[in-house]
Amino acid sequence: MPEEDGARMSTGEPLVQSTPPFLRVGLIGDPVAHSYSPRFQQAAFDTLRIPARYELWHTPAARLIERVRSLCGEEFLGANVTIPHKEAVLPLLDEVDPLAARIGAVNTIVHRDDYLYGYNTDAPGLLYALQEQGVGELDDDDRVSLAGHTAILLGAGGAARGAAFALVEAGVKRLIILNRHLERAQMLASELQSVYDGPVFSLSDPGFLIPHPAAIIVNATSLGMHGDVSPLPVEVLARFDPDTFVYDMIYNPTQTYLLCQASAIGLRTANGLSMLLHQGALAFTLWTRRPAPLDVMRAALA
Ligand code: NAP
Repeated sequence: MPEEDGARMSTGEPLVQSTPPFLRVGLIGDPVAHSYSPRFQQAAFDTLRIPARYELWHTPAARLIERVRSLCGEEFLGANVTIPHKEAVLPLLDEVDPLAARIGAVNTIVHRDDYLYGYNTDAPGLLYALQEQGVGELDDDDRVSLAGHTAILLGAGGAARGAAFALVEAGVKRLIILNRHLERAQMLASELQSVYDGPVFSLSDPGFLIPHPAAIIVNATSLGMHGDVSPLPVEVLARFDPDTFVYDMIYNPTQTYLLCQASAIGLRTANGLSMLLHQGALAFTLWTRRPAPLDVMRAALA
């Protein structure tokens, strides 16, 4: 089933809505209480009158196998997966989409006919979030192209891995990975070279960052979630052209120190809410085979 390799997934036949009393889908992670997903996923189910409930399934590592296997129950549409289980779920699934397999992380599980399928919607979610901000073009197959752009990726952890594969598959001209621990950036760079012909640079010192035109800076570190800290010193940011776009995957706080500094010097910016929305919309379509009501989901996040 996972034949579409991270693109907008097929809508196919509408989901049969007759299963009483409720279909179930939920978020598997530890912790999960902070998540915004129930808010906008439930709004989508309710709007389309799909009798499903989106639940929070707090799951410590010791209960992960049991939780994933429980998804084969007939009332389950599937699940989202978050920290710290995105990598650990892969061997528990019957089939994993090629993009998710390359990234090594699954954030969406679909249950169909006793089979569990794994996808990564974070990666295309980032691309749709960028495209919505006017960065990149949508091609005839509904894929985002970032041809001509230089991507500067801050971080080499789980979220950065998804972003890195998304950016190279969208055809960026070059990719620069900046991470505190250089060896992690180098390892990610060498993995990317198996699917990408363009140049990939690894750095640990932001001082060595050279500005490029049409640059997209993506923060995939957790720096900025608390306090006035930023993964890029403002004097480095100030080297970039005004057409540079700065995307911070963090959405809480909505305005990180990085985004404040970038907009203060005139760069275009956006926070991670749009990525959250698009990864969730793609997951919704995978579970239900229906187009996600994006406007409803967006309004529920506001
Ligand atoms: P992770 O695997 O723990 O990776 C954390 C990254 O941050 C690593 O690159 C790490 O560098 C870097 N880092 C952490 N503390 C640092 C510090 N003090 N100085 C410099 N670098 C530091 O986390 P993750 O799962 O990738 O998540 C990263 C962020 O993305 C989180 O804020 C998460 O909320 C966000 N996210 C958002 C969405 C969305 O939908 N918007 C989706 C997924 C993730 P080292 O490798 O050197 O340790």
